[in-house]
Amino acid sequence: MAQSEDHLFGVYARAPIEVERGEGSRLYDRSGREYLDFVQGIAVNGLGHANPILIAAMTEQAKKLWHVSNIFRIPGQDELAGKLCATSFADQVFFTNSGTEAVECALKLARKYHASKGHEERIDVIGFQGAFHGRTYAAVTAAGNQTYLDGFGPRLPGFVNVSLDDHEAIRAAAEAPTAAAILVEPVQGEGGARALTDAELHMLRDLCDANGLLLIFDEIQCGMGRSGKLWAYEHSGVAPDVMCIAKALGGGFPIGACLATREAASGMVVGSHGSTFGGNPLAMAVGITAFDEISKPELLDNVVKVSGYLKQQLEGLKQTWPDMIVDVRGKGLLIGVKLKPNNREIMALARDHGLLVAGGGDNCIRLLPALNLTEADAREALERLETTFAAAREKAKKTA
Ligand SMILES: *Cc1c(COP(=O)(O)O)cnc(C)c1O
Repeated sequence: MAQSEDHLFGVYARAPIEVERGEGSRLYDRSGREYLDFVQGIAVNGLGHANPILIAAMTEQAKKLWHVSNIFRIPGQDELAGKLCATSFADQVFFTNSGTEAVECALKLARKYHASKGHEERIDVIGFQGAFHGRTYAAVTAAGNQTYLDGFGPRLPGFVNVSLDDHEAIRAAAEAPTAAAILVEPVQGEGGARALTDAELHMLRDLCDANGLLLIFDEIQCGMGRSGKLWAYEHSGVAPDVMCIAKALGGGFPIGACLATREAASGMVVGSHGSTFGGNPLAMAVGITAFDEISKPELLDNVVKVSGYLKQQLEGLKQTWPDMIVDVRGKGLLIGVKLKPNNREIMALARDHGLLVAGGGDNCIRLLPALNLTEADAREALERLETTFAAAREKAKKTA
């Protein structure tokens, strides 16, 4: 029996299962039924459920100190920021509690950067169709998804939304005297696991350099090892000026961060920005541990190996199930499977067969398993997916 949710905003279309506990790649409901979890909090639990190393880090910190204000130095903030900077293009970090707050910080940083150089007119952030940057007013305006904008009044000024395929429009927007920054996910997540080509990323970098814009990468979903490298941008060799991360950064504990070069962050001075909870001691303790685990070469190697296996097998399934699979895409363990039947229906059927997957744009299902997924669990997930396809075929036959 589904619990009543009378006292909650009705904003989620929730799956009708009562999750109770998790262990690695498995999730269990209250009746003890087991699922292979290829959602993992939507790419959040990079080390799976109930990771003992994270539990130990959390427990130890919980006994010491939970929260102090950012008016004091917070244990762990400089340590985690140092690790993030040592492994990326960045020099400085601002900690948030979520992805969209990291995006909000990046947007404010971009405008402040130009204002501090005497260019207050440079406010336009160029975003792309199919993007997702979270749910703050600015983030939904930046992504431009009509579904998330309808009914919320006028769009905020200073945002331009263009198609990634319309290079002329991108160029025109970047050359406008009011342009401030380009905001892009190197691998679009919600949009359906579209990985930008190296050429596309180079083009955006060149446009930013030629016109004095900041290049902001939203690696909230594709970063932190998911692509098979620690940062997705490393595949292309195109570094941004600013990068938003969150999701797997805390291994399941809410953390986000906005990373920037010293130059890009130069407008962010005392009083420019702040957060009550951002970078709190619990988040830092768990974040440091999660980062150390995820940045290990063995773990990144595992992502490459297991994602390669999944991709290859899924390509095979595309041959055997042409009435189901249209296309397999994405990068590393951010895998999009574009379907023929409705993706929501397949998600529900997969759940009935013990496999949890996420939805995505362009009629995709997304596979976002833990980064430490074993090949045995990957194989089992594929078996469950095939059982799902068989059931979908039966169903289609009956209604035909
Ligand atoms: C999830 C996500 C966000 C928003 O993160 P929240 O923590 O939900 O605010 C932003 N950008 C991308 C690419 C995401 O996948």
